[in-house]
Amino acid sequence: MKKTIFVSLSIALAITGTALAQAPAAPPPAFSTTKVEGTDNVYIFRYQNHQAMFIVTPAGVIVTDPISYGRPQAAKAYLDEVRKITQAPIKYLIYSHHHYDHIAGGKPFKDAGAVVVAHKRAKDRLAALKNPDVIVPDQVVDRKRTIKLGGTTLELVYTGRNHSDSSLVMLLPKEKIIFAVDFNSLGAVPSRLAVNDSYPVEWEASLKRTLALNWDRMIPGHPGPGGRLGTKQDMEQQLAFLTELSGEVKKASDVGKCFDPATKEVRLPKFGTLQGYEQNIEWNIHRWCGYWGRGI
Ligand SMILES: [Zn+2]
Repeated sequence: MKKTIFVSLSIALAITGTALAQAPAAPPPAFSTTKVEGTDNVYIFRYQNHQAMFIVTPAGVIVTDPISYGRPQAAKAYLDEVRKITQAPIKYLIYSHHHYDHIAGGKPFKDAGAVVVAHKRAKDRLAALKNPDVIVPDQVVDRKRTIKLGGTTLELVYTGRNHSDSSLVMLLPKEKIIFAVDFNSLGAVPSRLAVNDSYPVEWEASLKRTLALNWDRMIPGHPGPGGRLGTKQDMEQQLAFLTELSGEVKKASDVGKCFDPATKEVRLPKFGTLQGYEQNIEWNIHRWCGYWGRGI
């Protein structure tokens, strides 16, 4: 009996020791606010795996994407974070595109006086969907709109259909920074959700138009690897991936291989090291097969 207790104790101690030695690092906090390096007034608010840009000027604040789908506490935390920096009025809330995971939960900003701006197709869709957690835009953008506030210029540019049909690129010309969401994943293959509501071929054209704008850093809607910002090189890589995907799927489609066996046979080994390649390549082929094989 005594021996048994001794053995059990030893095992318990050994397990505790191992557990201590291998204790995982504490998870990152639920949200964070960081000022973008080299700027006077451009910030990133991150809540779990979503993020949005906001700009603070003496005349007021421009916020983007409330990122509060199913979690109203995110918009509250977002507004609290802005209020730690400035008491200036919230002038604008701008949506990157119409998907709920980025734009639901804007009520606290609307209540604080923000004018809600989005691409015109985002307004059409959101007005029809009538989701109780989504504020319908007050103002719309067609091709382009420039907002000037307190010495800062922000251009809202529509570069065509891509991951959605309502994506606005938000360009800060002085800072050469863009906020662009979900149509350029840094070093990764687009996920299943990213290609669900997407526009093959037009997506590539949109990337080319976005690359032609004058910027050198991109704030993504989901944090990049290690929280880094995107570059034109990332966007060129995404364009190269989509171009090759499209070409290979078209070849398969032309010999009757869509959807099967194309989803199993088409592979792009050149891009095999991109994050999420194995998990997502079949979803990408499926979407492009729909386009080339069925005209959808
Ligand atoms: Zn989206």
